[in-house]
Amino acid sequence: MTDIVDRLIAVFDQPAGHAGYGEGISQREHALQAAWLAEKEGASPALVAAALLHDVGHLLHGLGEDIAEKGVDGRHEAVGAAFLLRHFGEDVVGPVALHVDAKRYLVAVEPGYAEKLSEASVLSLKLQGGPMTKAEADRFAAKRFAKDALRLRRWDEEAKLVGYTTPEPAHFRKYVEAALRR
Ligand code: FE
Ligand code: FE
Repeated sequence: MTDIVDRLIAVFDQPAGHAGYGEGISQREHALQAAWLAEKEGASPALVAAALLHDVGHLLHGLGEDIAEKGVDGRHEAVGAAFLLRHFGEDVVGPVALHVDAKRYLVAVEPGYAEKLSEASVLSLKLQGGPMTKAEADRFAAKRFAKDALRLRRWDEEAKLVGYTTPEPAHFRKYVEAALRR
């Protein structure tokens, strides 16, 4: 069972982890910054793990998962959540699955939030459906993991700093382990 933990921690040091994603930093840096912000805010182990793994949908190739072959669509939050569901409970999977909708929600309901988005994130927002309508926002807010997803989203926005020092992936191992579904 810890095999998956080893693989997840190791993926950040594989080529997939060093790939950028249009933000001027690597997936590895982005994930570590998000997890570090979550830990510093005293988030639960599951939510720290979710922060570390929220973009795992971009890293599946490094985990030996061929998503194209399985016919899964390119929505990285859904792809990542489907993968994580095999090993983790809803407290990890829920916030990951909702982290893109959380952006669409925050842009719709919070004045000034759109200005906090990076250029790449503004671009992807359009492809992801743009700001939520009032009805969509109400539906989102009623979801079980909406609050956690919103916390995760704020770390996600912040976790794009160039040259910001964080702990190494191994530091976050304990959270991933604690969050495993038993
Ligand atoms: Fe993402
Ligand atoms: Fe992200």
